[in-house]
Amino acid sequence: MPAKILIFEVAVPSPLYRSFDYRAPIATGESPPVPGTRVLVPFGQRRVVGILLTIKQDSDIPAGKLKDVLEVLDAKPVLGTDLMQLLSWAARYYHHPIGEVLAAALPVLLRKPDSCPDTHVMVWKLTDAGRQQSLQSLARAPRQAAVLGVLTEHPQGLAREALSVPLEVLNRLQHRGWIHRVGLEQAPAGNIVNLSDTQHALTVQQQSAADAVQACFDSFQAFLLEGVTGSGKTEVYLRLIEPLLQKQKQVLVLVPEIGLTPQLVERFRQRFAVDIAVLHSGLNDSQRLRAWQQAASGAARLILGTRSAIFTPLKNPGMIIIDEEHDTSLKQQDGFRYSARDLAVWRAQQLNIPILLGSATPSLESLYNAQQGRYQLLDLPERAGKALAPTMRLLDLRGQTMRDLLSATLLDAMDVHLKKGGQILLFLNRRGFAPVLLCHACGWVAECRRCDARMTLHQRRGELRCHHCGSQRRVDAFCPSCGSSELLGIGEGTERIEQALQEHFPDISVLRIDRDTTRRKGELEAALSAAETGAARILLGTQMLAKGHHFPEVTLAAILDADQGLFSTDFRASERMAQLIIQVAGRAGRAEKPGEVMIQTHHPDHPLLRQLVESGYPAFAQSALEERQETLLPPYASMALLRAEATSAEQPKAFLDAARTLAEPSQSATLQLWGPVAAPMERRAGRYRAQLLVQAGHRNELQQLLRQWIPRFEAIRDSRRVRWSIDVDPVDMF
Ligand code: ADP
Ligand code: ZN
Ligand code: ZN
Repeated sequence: MPAKILIFEVAVPSPLYRSFDYRAPIATGESPPVPGTRVLVPFGQRRVVGILLTIKQDSDIPAGKLKDVLEVLDAKPVLGTDLMQLLSWAARYYHHPIGEVLAAALPVLLRKPDSCPDTHVMVWKLTDAGRQQSLQSLARAPRQAAVLGVLTEHPQGLAREALSVPLEVLNRLQHRGWIHRVGLEQAPAGNIVNLSDTQHALTVQQQSAADAVQACFDSFQAFLLEGVTGSGKTEVYLRLIEPLLQKQKQVLVLVPEIGLTPQLVERFRQRFAVDIAVLHSGLNDSQRLRAWQQAASGAARLILGTRSAIFTPLKNPGMIIIDEEHDTSLKQQDGFRYSARDLAVWRAQQLNIPILLGSATPSLESLYNAQQGRYQLLDLPERAGKALAPTMRLLDLRGQTMRDLLSATLLDAMDVHLKKGGQILLFLNRRGFAPVLLCHACGWVAECRRCDARMTLHQRRGELRCHHCGSQRRVDAFCPSCGSSELLGIGEGTERIEQALQEHFPDISVLRIDRDTTRRKGELEAALSAAETGAARILLGTQMLAKGHHFPEVTLAAILDADQGLFSTDFRASERMAQLIIQVAGRAGRAEKPGEVMIQTHHPDHPLLRQLVESGYPAFAQSALEERQETLLPPYASMALLRAEATSAEQPKAFLDAARTLAEPSQSATLQLWGPVAAPMERRAGRYRAQLLVQAGHRNELQQLLRQWIPRFEAIRDSRRVRWSIDVDPVDMF
C-alpha cells in the first residue's frame, strides 16, 4: 500500500478566485503546521509565499501532477485563527480572491520568503540603578545621557533602532548596570496612566456614554457615539481605554488619516505610559513589521492605525474604536475593496469585545443601524468645557461684489475677527490656481490628453496638472489652437485665494494647507503646528484642514463655495456635503472664544443648506434617511458595482453587456440591474471605463447573485482584455 500523502491547500497571491493544492513536505507522524502558516511554493515560473488554508488527504489533482511545498516558513502561524476567519469571511463577502486578501493583510516583509518573523523583539530598559542616575552627572557623555532620558520616557523599553545610537553606547550603559536588555513580551510594570497629563472631570453626558460602554466590556456590543464637534469624544475614548489597559488588554483605534491628526496620537501618548504601535503610511517596511509583531506579541497595548490596521493581530483584545466613522477613507477604493468600519464590527463580534464608532456626523448607514437597534446610540449634544456651539449663517452671493470668491461681507467679518485677535479658517476643496485655462480669443480650453477632464492651472509652478491621472506639462505660452497669447485662468483654487488674501491683508500671515504645500516630509507637521499655535492668522485649505483638528484660536470658519457639492449625480453627495460643512464649522470656537461660521452660496434657499443651518446634522440625517427609504437606496438596499475598463470604449461595454445577460435571469422585483453606462468621467489615464450596478432589497439576495455570477465572468469572450472589478457596498459610485 502506498504511503498516504498529505495535501496542503494554499492561498497564493494571484487574481484567481481559488486556492491551490500542493504535496506536503513532511512525513506523516511529524506534527503538521496549522492554517495561517506561511509556506513557500512554486507558482508558474516563480516561487511565492502562500498561506496554508487547510490540510487534507485528497485532491482533485492527480497525485502525480501535484507540486511540492518547498518550505514551511513559520514555526507559528503568522495569521491566527481569528484573523484567518475574518479574512476568509471578507474574501467571500467582498468577492475578492483569497490569496490577495490574505496577502493584503500581511506586512510587506512577511510576503517575502526570506524574512522570518522574529516575535522575540529585544528592547533596552532602565534598571532601578539607571532610573536613579541624574542626567547632569553624565554631562560629559551626552549620548549616554540622551539614552537614559529617552528610556525614562519609555518605561516599557525601546528597540535599538528606536534609540539610534551606536551599540557601544548601549554596551557601556549596560556595563555600568543602568540599562538591560529584555524580551518585549515581558509584562510591563508600573503606572499605565501618565499622572502628569491633565484629565478633565467628565461632563454628565460624557460620563453616561462611558458608563454605557463600560457596562459591556466583556462582550460584543456596537456603540455609535454621536457627539457634536468639540463635545469631548476623544476624552471618552481615553477614559474607556484606561481600565482596559489596567486589565492588560489591548485597544485598537482606527482613524481616517493619521498624518492629518498628529495631535490625536500625541494625546494618546501623553495620557498613557504604555507602548503604542502607530501604523501609518510613513513607516518603512521593517518598522511596520515591528509594529505588527508588537501588537501580535501583546507588547504594544494601544494600536493606532488607518484602515488596514483592522488586520493587525492582537494577543489580548479589549476594544475597538473607530474615530470619524463616517469618513470615506475607511473604505479601500481599489484592489481588495473593503470597509474597515464594517470589518471592524465583524471582528469585534467575533472577538466578543465592544466596538465604539465615533463621529459628529455619523454615516447614514450607522444611524440606520442604531435605529434598528443593532448599535447602541450614545449622544453628546453639547460641547465640552467652556466652548459653545458656533453660530452658522448662509451668505447669499447673488449680486454681491466678489473678489476671487471672497465676498465683501466675508471680508468685513474677517476684519472684525482679526481685530479681536481671532484666527480664521477658510475652506475650499479645489487646489491649484484655477481649474480651467481658457483662450480668450478662440475659446480653446486646456484638457488632459489621457482623461476626459480639464487641466488645473498651477500658476506659481507654471504648470498644468491633471488632478485625475497626475499628468502635467508646462503652461502653454500661446494658444495651441489659434496662437493667441491671451490665456486666462478661470475659476478659483486655493493658490489664487492665497494670493488674493495676501494682497488684501498684506500684514497678516496666511497659511495654505493642501496637497501642494505639504508634499515634502515635515511640511504638514510644521503647517499644522503653526495653525494650532495661532501663529498663522488666516488658514486656507482643502479637506486636509477639515478633519478633526483642534485649533483653539479659530473663531471664524468659512466655506468659500458650498455650491460645488449641491448638484452631483451621486446619491451620497448630499450626505458628504452635509458632513463636510459640519466638520468645517466644527473647527470654529472650540475654546473659550465663541465661533462663527459662514457658508457662501448662490443657492441660499437650497433645502439641504437651510436644514443644516437651521436644524443641524441630526435633522438633516433623519430626512436624508427618509429619502433613501422612499427611493430604496442604501441603507435600505444593498449594492454592488461591477466596473470594467480597457483601452477602447467598446470593450468594457461589451463585457458588461455580457455580464448583464448572465445576471438577467436573476432579476426580480427586489433585484435590479442598472446599466451598463459609461463612467461619469469615461476616459481616465488613457483607459475607457464603464459600470453596471446591481441593487438588491436584501444583502443575502445580492450575495447569492454575486456567488453564482462572478465565477462565470472568465468565460465571457474577451474578458481578459478588460480589467474588471467588483465593489460590494460601494461608497463612491464613479
Ligand atoms: P471631539 O473629539 O468630540 O471633537 P475633544 O475630545 O477633542 O472633542 O474635546 C474638545 C476640547 O474639549 C478639548 O480641548 C478637550 O480637552 C476639551 N474637553 C473634553 N472633555 C472635557 C471636559 N469634560 N471638560 C472640559 N474640557 C473638556
Ligand atoms: Zn485660442
Ligand atoms: Zn488626466
